[in-house]
Amino acid sequence: MSVAGEATPERAPRVGVLALQGGFEAHRRMLERLGADVRDVRVPEHLAGLGGLVVPGGESTTMMLGIEREGLAGPLRAFAAERPVFGTCAGLIVLDREHVGIMDVRAERNAFGRQTHSFEEDLDLDLGVGRDGGPVRAVFIRAPWIAEHGPGVEILASVAGHGVAAREGHALVVSFHPELSGETRLHERFLRDVRAAGGD
Ligand code: GLN
Repeated sequence: MSVAGEATPERAPRVGVLALQGGFEAHRRMLERLGADVRDVRVPEHLAGLGGLVVPGGESTTMMLGIEREGLAGPLRAFAAERPVFGTCAGLIVLDREHVGIMDVRAERNAFGRQTHSFEEDLDLDLGVGRDGGPVRAVFIRAPWIAEHGPGVEILASVAGHGVAAREGHALVVSFHPELSGETRLHERFLRDVRAAGGD
């Protein structure tokens, strides 16, 4: 849909945030701050007309129950074949090959153990985001890591030898919470990918 007379090439992309459970409000705020038109996604019909989708952190088991209840797994896979998807923390687990199956990774839940269940670290992220403007401040909360991945997956950053950020095609996942640390560059990257994919 285009608005007559709107000349700006950087017009607001319309993106969704999976809003079944978890930290979707913080993602919404960050995306709106970056100029996006943000919609909550709770049922398959809500994916129509979106240029990209964020899958937030939270509790992956609960989120998967909601995805199954609403019949969202197939529609999410079809959407991700065409459009950028960005998963954070539990979102990484939801998108992995053992759950919705959008990324060819296997996430290990709560991988950093009980003692270090929450921590912060500066990451040098090679995503066109971390090297401009310094390292990415990453907040980890009972975070997963990437235990295995297929050949099409590019690991973008690791902690203790385990992948915590990865990309495959236009899907992007991180183990941490950029939406909580005021780190906008990953969301900016996602919105750039949405525009590049011709997203609405
Ligand atoms: N530990 C959570 C899970 O396994 C993920 C934590 C988070 O998203 N902050 O679902």
